[in-house]
Amino acid sequence: MARVLVVGAGLTGGACAALLRGAALGRIAVWDKARGAGGRMSTSRSARDAACTADLGAQYITLETECAGPRRSFYDELLSHGILKPLTAPVEGMVVKEGSCNYMAPQGISSVVKYYLKQSGADVFYEHLVTCISLRDGKWEVSRKMGPPEQFDVVILTIPVPQILQLQGDIVNKSPEIGPSVVVHTTVTFGSEHLDSDPAEVQQLILSHLERIVPSLPKPASIKCQKWRYSQVTKAVPNCLGQMILHTQPLLICGGDGFTHSNFDGCIDSALSLAEAVKSHL
Ligand SMILES: Cc1cc2nc3c(=O)[nH]c(=O)nc-3n(C[C@H](O)[C@H](O)[C@H](O)COP(=O)(O)OP(=O)(O)OC[C@H]3O[C@@H](n4cnc5c(N)ncnc54)[C@H](O)[C@@H]3O)c2cc1C
Repeated sequence: MARVLVVGAGLTGGACAALLRGAALGRIAVWDKARGAGGRMSTSRSARDAACTADLGAQYITLETECAGPRRSFYDELLSHGILKPLTAPVEGMVVKEGSCNYMAPQGISSVVKYYLKQSGADVFYEHLVTCISLRDGKWEVSRKMGPPEQFDVVILTIPVPQILQLQGDIVNKSPEIGPSVVVHTTVTFGSEHLDSDPAEVQQLILSHLERIVPSLPKPASIKCQKWRYSQVTKAVPNCLGQMILHTQPLLICGGDGFTHSNFDGCIDSALSLAEAVKSHL
């Protein structure tokens, strides 16, 4: 039985692991460098009250009904389990395209990813930062920052492309007492200009601006300033149909929104394409 490692516990990794369940594989392991699931679909909890949450990356997901194709069943499944609910709250400035439906995740957007990880039955390990992937005796030896390296027959990389390129080795509903959470997104230009600035200074800049435009906002009980170095993909890897095989024997394959586009549909397309390629390889 092939031993499979999925690197990345974001939407692509979670959905791909779930799609591979039942294929002729041994146990699937998922490794992520973070302390929890979600990646760019992560949900943060207030240190003062874990019930107070904020989605730091993706806020809602959009079904384009006309071109949903096989992805439709993913939405139906998530809706039937209450993981997604129609987004009914008004969002100022939001342009709703005809034939599209927006959904939010009442338990936080990371609950979508957690749902797939649970479905996958995979062994999920956090704080496993993959640093190096090397060929050894016909298998992939995967090293992480802490702990001994492990060997796998198939490795599936679902981390952002810039992070793939950094790898070493042979591939170079809230109760009123809880209080609301407010997420402030900056423009992409602001983010790029301050990418390497001191986070405390950037936080102060954002807060001062927020105070000027919404002076009535109460003082926050806690603040988290999140920098997305690899945010949305502006130029996907061309002509690759959602995945790219880097090595065939043993199989090393990568996918994620860098190979499609940056939204729920892009990740599901990549996960389907990854699972298909892995299955046909076995
Ligand atoms: C601010 C923002 C707003 C967005 N808004 C929306 C939206 O409203 N709707 C929508 O559909 N999409 C939105 N997106 C895009 C969406 O979040 C992404 O397309 C999607 O989450 C990408 O999923 P992924 O699994 O491919 O990658 P990721 O979510 O990035 O997952 C990759 C995982 O790999 C881990 N990782 C990275 N390097 C290593 C390593 N070396 N070793 C181990 N683990 C590693 C990371 O910790 C991460 O958990 C938004 C994104 C951002 C940043």
